[in-house]
Amino acid sequence: MHKYRTILSILIGSFLLLSALKTFCSDAMDLNNRGVEAYNLKDYKKAITLLSDALSMSPDNEVIKNNLSNALQAFADEEGKRNNFNTAIDLVDKAIKINPNNFFAHLQKGAFLLNAGRLIEAIRHLEMAVKLKPGFLDAHELLGEAYYRDNDILSARTQWEYVLQIDPSRKQLKERYDKACREEVVESSFNKTISQSRHFNLTYPKEITYQIRSYVLSVLERAYLEIGRKLGGVFPAGPIQVILYDVQQFSSVVQMGQTVGGVYDGKIRIPVINEKGENLSDEEIKRRIYHEYVHVVVFELLKDKVPWWLNEGLAETFSKEFSNREKTMLEQFVNNRELIPYNTLEKISMKDMFASETKMSLAYLQSHATVNMLWSKYGQGRFLNFIQALKRRENPEDALRDIYHLDYTSLSRGVMQVIQR
Ligand SMILES: [Zn+2]
Repeated sequence: MHKYRTILSILIGSFLLLSALKTFCSDAMDLNNRGVEAYNLKDYKKAITLLSDALSMSPDNEVIKNNLSNALQAFADEEGKRNNFNTAIDLVDKAIKINPNNFFAHLQKGAFLLNAGRLIEAIRHLEMAVKLKPGFLDAHELLGEAYYRDNDILSARTQWEYVLQIDPSRKQLKERYDKACREEVVESSFNKTISQSRHFNLTYPKEITYQIRSYVLSVLERAYLEIGRKLGGVFPAGPIQVILYDVQQFSSVVQMGQTVGGVYDGKIRIPVINEKGENLSDEEIKRRIYHEYVHVVVFELLKDKVPWWLNEGLAETFSKEFSNREKTMLEQFVNNRELIPYNTLEKISMKDMFASETKMSLAYLQSHATVNMLWSKYGQGRFLNFIQALKRRENPEDALRDIYHLDYTSLSRGVMQVIQR
């Protein structure tokens, strides 16, 4: 199961661009004015070039500095909306160099870094933003989010409580806050000495033995390499937070049924001890880790631009075989019925998840069969192209058409052929 989180998109608002100024030398003024024109036409690249030239002619001019910063930040905002966070970070960095006390630039940079998974740097810039403009609620909320992802729940709560006190209408934040409180209750008894590997931080209750912990870390590192390579060389900066539980602790944190084997909600959460207090088998733990780690990589690649069936199907495909047993089960499910329409499988809510267990099993099986077919029949190269197409396209079916020359109807037909063979 996968749940992604969207960071508030930082809207920069409209800027005031002053153009004509008598103190300019005429060339710098001319370049500035043309830069402003380009900015107003939303041609930020051109605006940045012109304004940079203007600034090099007149390096102390505050108006040009201000205009250039605005152009850089507006362009960064566009790049951020396209999930090009590294480009966005570079752009906003230039604005910070022009004015190190630019509040919005620090806030923007913090948000982009957070999205890029670079937590420590994100925290630094968001703390700076809060210092420059205390009381700006979005900054406090984001800083709380960064602390939370860094597993510093107490500091996260402090920020979020402040925001909710002033603006209680932030519903989503309230939900996140409540969840953090539940985690704090369950996880406060966990071992505070975190286990670490190169890319992961592990938090766990004391019942979890050293043996399991080191096994989990070694499997995580293997997943990091294997899945990263399969998906074209995707290696998140991390550290990625991983929390182990027993089944009861897990269900009180995530509030989902006990059939759920793990969650990725920005942190990987996996129960490794069953209700009888026994450790799960190595095989099962590995399967769960691989499944959830696929979600980490998919999130890194596509953020929210991923259809549910692809995300879950890929997690299943890379964590277990689509065996004859799966094939027979899916065959029995669809006997005399149709597959679930792929449009329905693009978004699955929590409510759907628990409305019908049978339907959910079918949804997972069908997604598994689908991705397994795309991967094994057409190969890795096509699949990676498909991921790129999903980034570009608004509609997943269009991306499917671009790369596989299939629409959802023919995709269904292909899957039916596989299972009836
Ligand atoms: Zn999943």
